[in-house]
Amino acid sequence: MQKPKGTRDLGPESMEVRKKVEEVMRDRCEGWGFREVDTPTFEHLELFTLKSGEEIIDEIYAFRDKSERELALRPEVTASVMRFYSDELRARPKPLKLYYFSNCFRYEQPQKGRYREFWQFGTETIGGDCSKTSAETIALACEILDSFGLEYDLHIGYLGVARGVLESEGVVGEDQDRLMSLIDKGDVDAIIDFLDGLSVSSDCRGVLVELIDLVGEGRDTVSQALDVLESYGFGEEGGFGLDNLSETLSYLESYGDVDYTLDLGIARGLEYYTGTVFEIYVPGLGAQNQVCGGGEYSIPQLMGENQFSTGFAFGFDRVVEAIKHQEIDLDIGPRLMAYIIPVSDEFRDEAVQILGRMRGSFPADIDLTGRGIGDQISHADSIGVRFAVIIGEREVENGTLSLKDMESGDQVELGIDEAVNKIMEEYESL
Ligand code: AMP
Repeated sequence: MQKPKGTRDLGPESMEVRKKVEEVMRDRCEGWGFREVDTPTFEHLELFTLKSGEEIIDEIYAFRDKSERELALRPEVTASVMRFYSDELRARPKPLKLYYFSNCFRYEQPQKGRYREFWQFGTETIGGDCSKTSAETIALACEILDSFGLEYDLHIGYLGVARGVLESEGVVGEDQDRLMSLIDKGDVDAIIDFLDGLSVSSDCRGVLVELIDLVGEGRDTVSQALDVLESYGFGEEGGFGLDNLSETLSYLESYGDVDYTLDLGIARGLEYYTGTVFEIYVPGLGAQNQVCGGGEYSIPQLMGENQFSTGFAFGFDRVVEAIKHQEIDLDIGPRLMAYIIPVSDEFRDEAVQILGRMRGSFPADIDLTGRGIGDQISHADSIGVRFAVIIGEREVENGTLSLKDMESGDQVELGIDEAVNKIMEEYESL
């Protein structure tokens, strides 16, 4: 039987790589003061339509359970974490730094890097000063990718400007959200058509089209954006918070050398984003090259008024794909350090005792077939064992073990302690 469209079976080799990637991500998050949370795989459908509207139903797995409750498999985790925050975590000291690693489900057309079941690894920081929190969030996302030695492009945007210009022209609510989603798609014609329909001023139209096209390296681009705003007569509003963006960038620079492109055309798909946003792309991954997206957002219905949070979500599968594409060696090492080979069933008792001792210190396994020694050694080789440990009459009599190094092919007979220690040293050096 075939698996459902857009899902994957993950074999042992894939899982070894994924576990290593997960371990590095967890380690970095914990090292930066984040603590893990988990939320249900399915939620009330309303949680996702709350801010993203009814249209989202076409893009997600929505269903009724046997009691006619309207539910949905989570398409992302932010809304769930905010629900959790609202239900139980509100009283915790802020900023509250949380992270998650969860499978997500979207009813999309599957293609390379786009699945119907995929995993997100993400953080949410609730509370804190927006600029400082945004800088910390972006710096952590970069640190995680740097720990793998990945090459990537970081793009930072600021939604406050477009939202501010629209607000000053009375474009609010759903119209504003609709425009932000058109900006996100980069569809300039559709943006102009929509603005014309709203009969905004020609300056509003001009400034938006020019701003979303503004892309440049470093902080100078913020000054250029301010000039654009001024030239259309929108300069007096403090650049609609562009000074916050400058502040975020200067905090970000104190984390070290971070290369970024400022791109005011980034709007992010979901409507709850409010201020600084960012996306990270890995060149060479094809159409689905965005490995991370994040920014500052607010969901007043769940978080309360004037409560902001900043987070990111890595497309975990795409990070794994990027590591493979850039041929990065994760140094996973052999899975099994020792494979015990009793020469015959006569020595099985001694063999299992040695196995028990080894299993206390490193991964070890034993033959379960009773086949001949030659076949057992080829099996050990085929499953990538580091040492084959042979136990026969001579070894039992001498209190020794014969250790076959499966990399070099060399075989030595060592005292039991010595043999166990040798394997353990090798294991610890991995
Ligand atoms: P989003 O919640 O849409 O901002 O997505 C966050 C990240 O999840 C994106 O940057 C992608 O890397 C990843 N992602 C989103 N949708 C999919 C999908 N269908 N399959 C695999 N990864 C995805």
